[in-house]
Amino acid sequence: MFDSHAHLEDDKYNDDRDKVIKECQKKMTGVVTVCSQPSHLDRVLDMTKKYKGFVFAAAGIHPEFVEHYTNDQKEQYFERVKEHAKEIVAIGETGLDYHWVTDPNGRKKQKQWFLDSIELAQDLKKPLVIHSRKAHEATLEILLKQGAEKVQWHMFSSKPLFQTILDQGWMISVGAGILHSKPSRIVRDIPLEQLMTETDAPYVAPTPGERNTPLTVELVIKKIAEIRKEDSATIDRVTTANAKRHFDL
Ligand SMILES: [Zn+2]
Repeated sequence: MFDSHAHLEDDKYNDDRDKVIKECQKKMTGVVTVCSQPSHLDRVLDMTKKYKGFVFAAAGIHPEFVEHYTNDQKEQYFERVKEHAKEIVAIGETGLDYHWVTDPNGRKKQKQWFLDSIELAQDLKKPLVIHSRKAHEATLEILLKQGAEKVQWHMFSSKPLFQTILDQGWMISVGAGILHSKPSRIVRDIPLEQLMTETDAPYVAPTPGERNTPLTVELVIKKIAEIRKEDSATIDRVTTANAKRHFDL
């Protein structure tokens, strides 16, 4: 079992982070922890050192946090990401969030930083982790225009754009959101080699409002198997192999 998108650096794990990771190690192959803002980078890098070969780092600025940082801070952060490129398996999460950010200047800044993040990923030859909320068309347009090649679209949910995403050969990661929604056509129809499992832990818990952990991938795998009428062992084996290939682990 592999969690391709979690936030183990989140403050919600400050009291028991090691305990949570050790529990995950008993059952799982690995977790990509996604550093979403500059202030969390040290914590993320420490984890990849302490749990080498199990916790892997992605690094970027979540579109929702863009407004909290200056251009200088972003530049310094990207420099640090470049210095630590060997310890980082992907750039993101980045993209556009029009749900939380509604003013035009905020959206403009998001777009610029998204472009800068794509450039960073291309410089470092790393895959991108895409977050998009109420902005799927705009996000897709930018990715295509910039020639983004290796992409993981986290919690993708747009039926009209589904085929275009697949045609690019990009990956789609599916999390605990599917436990409550009606069986999704996306989960059913995605070619298995383009599917990864994720949790977005500590968010998107199976029980809304509770703290999630990467161990939830077990439920996600079961649910995917049920929707696709395949066995859990196959889903587990293929999604784990997909993650290893995608992140070059
Ligand atoms: Zn996330």
